Amino acid sequence: MAPETHALLSASSAHRWLNCTPSALLEAGKPDRDSTASLEGTAAHALAEWKLAEMLGRGPGARPQSTYDTVEMDEHTSAYVTHVNQLLDDHEGPSRVFIEQRLDYSKYAPDGYGTGDCVIISDGLLDIVDFKYGQGVLVEAEQNPQLKLYALGALEAFQDIYRVDQVRATIFQPRRDNTVRVEYSRSELVEWGEQTVKPAAALAAKGKGEFKAGPWCQFCKLAPTCRARAEENLKLARLEFKPGPELSDEEVAQVLRQLPDLTKWAAEVEKYATQAAVSQGKQWEGMKLVAGRSVRKYADENQVIQAARDAGYKDTDIFEQKLITLTRMEKLVGKKQFTQIFDGLVVKPEGKPTLVPMSDRRKALDLAAPEQEFENLDK
Ligand code: SF4
Repeated sequence: MAPETHALLSASSAHRWLNCTPSALLEAGKPDRDSTASLEGTAAHALAEWKLAEMLGRGPGARPQSTYDTVEMDEHTSAYVTHVNQLLDDHEGPSRVFIEQRLDYSKYAPDGYGTGDCVIISDGLLDIVDFKYGQGVLVEAEQNPQLKLYALGALEAFQDIYRVDQVRATIFQPRRDNTVRVEYSRSELVEWGEQTVKPAAALAAKGKGEFKAGPWCQFCKLAPTCRARAEENLKLARLEFKPGPELSDEEVAQVLRQLPDLTKWAAEVEKYATQAAVSQGKQWEGMKLVAGRSVRKYADENQVIQAARDAGYKDTDIFEQKLITLTRMEKLVGKKQFTQIFDGLVVKPEGKPTLVPMSDRRKALDLAAPEQEFENLDK
């Protein structure tokens, strides 16, 4: 969805303020970070919006252009429009499609509103579609509060025109091959709005309630310096291990389960502190800024080429021709063409075994224990 810069209790940050109510007010005082990914996302949304308006025959004007335009973006935005069209087919009778629609859910959260990428409504059925162009984090539709708040806003806005019983909320995240949908009844959503959103939003609007660290901290502007998050992460250091020279299997497993959060948090703190030291001259007690490791490089490539030729080396000695990477090739020709042109020419070797939490979506490897392999050979 397009960035929501004005609502304190925005739908896109709802996962945070519903779980950690004081976060919303504290975040409001911090500047936004315009990363390349967010600028690219904004460009993709503008193009998707334009294509959808064109598909609906709304004469959207000139096609938006940006420095982020690629074949890949063109294909993904077209796929989004195709998907919306498929959803539209499920609506019987007169239906309406709203693009980049402001959805007001202030009945549940003070001054709460957001912008839904696409809303389709007809008698009986409401579709909320959120286009995610990012690829870093896989977005789930299941119990996604952003989608649920949009749905509450749409139910509220159109209640006098359409009688809706069924709500479908879709995440369309093409760069992760992730199109997921979840269904709710109207009463289920309203109950969630009344019982979960209202009390949390009342606290969040006043900056009250308990700080609570969890997965929602990921994009919090306070994340590197938040005390609650630091305390949560540092619980690992306070683990009480049993006596004995070695950790038990359960203790190792306990460390493993906490490592991803701990290392991520440590990296964020380090990045924040380094940026402050470099850009604001901040001094951190016991630390100093030094030049990192660096690698040698040619001062001037043209002069190096000339010097090598003068020394009697042929161009075949000093130049090498390399195939561009698979990712660059896919960007160059587009996903659809890539599949056609290189059919059967791309392989995916098995990844290095990695330990991940049970909640990870990937299928567990079925590796036979070495003793078992020997047993099998004996048979
Ligand atoms: S980083 Fe801190 S303030 Fe932000 S959501 Fe996490 S616990 Fe709350």
